[in-house]
Amino acid sequence: MKYIFVTGGVVSSLGKGLAAAAVGTLLERRGLKVLMQKFDPYLNVDPGTMSPFQHGEVYVLDDGAETDLDLGHYERFTSGKLSQLNNLTSGQVYENVIKRERKGDYLGATVQVIPHVTDEIKKRIHDVTAVTDADIIITEIGGTTGDIEGLPFLEALRQFKDEVGHENVAFMHATLIPYIKAAEELKTKPTQQSVAKLREIGIAPDVIICRSEFPIDNELRSKISMFCNIRPEAVVPFLDIKGTIYEAPLKLHDSQLDEIICERLGLETGEPDLIEWRNMVDRIVNPTHTVKIAVVGKYIELMDAYKSIYESLTHAGAANDANVDIVRVDSSDITKKGPEEILKDVSAILIPGGFGDRGIEGKITAARYARENNIPYFGICLGMQIATIEFARNVCGLDGAHSTEFDPDTPHPVICLLEDQKEVENMGATMRLGTWEAMLAEGSRSEELYGSGKVNERHRHRYEFNQSYKADFEAKGLKLVGTSPDGTLGEIVEIPDHSFYIAVQFHPEFQSKPTAAHPLFKGFVAAALENRKG
Ligand code: GLN
Repeated sequence: MKYIFVTGGVVSSLGKGLAAAAVGTLLERRGLKVLMQKFDPYLNVDPGTMSPFQHGEVYVLDDGAETDLDLGHYERFTSGKLSQLNNLTSGQVYENVIKRERKGDYLGATVQVIPHVTDEIKKRIHDVTAVTDADIIITEIGGTTGDIEGLPFLEALRQFKDEVGHENVAFMHATLIPYIKAAEELKTKPTQQSVAKLREIGIAPDVIICRSEFPIDNELRSKISMFCNIRPEAVVPFLDIKGTIYEAPLKLHDSQLDEIICERLGLETGEPDLIEWRNMVDRIVNPTHTVKIAVVGKYIELMDAYKSIYESLTHAGAANDANVDIVRVDSSDITKKGPEEILKDVSAILIPGGFGDRGIEGKITAARYARENNIPYFGICLGMQIATIEFARNVCGLDGAHSTEFDPDTPHPVICLLEDQKEVENMGATMRLGTWEAMLAEGSRSEELYGSGKVNERHRHRYEFNQSYKADFEAKGLKLVGTSPDGTLGEIVEIPDHSFYIAVQFHPEFQSKPTAAHPLFKGFVAAALENRKG
């Protein structure tokens, strides 16, 4: 087994997760079996209870683990299926250590960061190793070198490298090379200092990935090489990407990063087969058509909050030979200015998942506007609940219809708490989570798009479609076309008499890949193209 650890220096938001995922792509396409994981030094047990404003999207895995959004990059850039073992937080580490202390596992000992916390971190790497047939594990360490909370992780990795042998471990450090305008110069000092911080702990990077706005010349590479004690070839430039993030593996391959890593770890493989990947990038960068699609949400100003939705639209665009121009709409603006003003130029409307009542009425107005004007509509999780509430109020005449999440006393609870949520008290990891099977009605649009009557999709919700209103909805044209296998839980609603009106209780965005767009996203973008304005 070989191990790559990816650390970051200087600042956050460097694209460290992207670089790690891109290395995964390159090694996988060299024929190696790759598994990726993330260590997050914060004290939450998982990011499930954090606001998207704090931490971006919560990415859900098949097994129901609520994880960091970087795991979304890993699943999109490699084929490895991830599980809860692949996202370790300080919260989990301390939770385990304290549980063991209470049980008496450390009887007699003073429980300390070294060795007990660091042992627990190393144990996770061994636990993952034990259940995988991967050749190589790539582990990204969240945060920035020098953070207090990251220290136990780095110390654990230092010990780990000695235990499994230096020849089996490579450290990749991503840093920023800032450009100082007044001096018209790229500066290497922050990189030198962050590498010095790593070396203080006993870790010497094998590769430095230099994120920069401008090309890095040989002189600069030699300087970093000398100060940081690594070979000049191992100083790898990672310039800002203008086209698509999926170019990252190609750019890093041009800088020979995969070759340097394979050489360092003694991995013998041929050149990576990047034909399919290059074709996909080409389709994204050089599309024939373009189409405007609105995403109406409440975390709109933050690019990371709906990461997988935006990526899935890009994948579906590529599959339709189109550039999807995403118009990010704050739902409260719809309430302020009216839907015509804000949505008149878009060819389709998507409402993603969400929690809490802020911006709900604006979303309901957007769903109504889509329904009444025959504009393709795709509702995801909360977006499905919104479609249901809107239809109840404005078509079925159920005044005041709502979800009990937002109005516990509504006269028409068309969306209500899932039966097994009624006893739930803790907020962490208690929703209906992970992959569940859904059965689709014969002849429905969803069945046609999937090409199957049975699908597996990932979930993250507490509330559900209230089936006591089903007959009323169906009589007026909103059909329940997808349910759980026993028929008790609503999974998909459609309006057959509409250009495209599909709303799903699950999260298809967690399963779309750049080389294999999700069928519902693909159908939605195709419908948007048909309805293209201008
Ligand atoms: N808040 C809604 C629920 O809990 C929707 C969740 C979501 O969109 N992920 O059911």
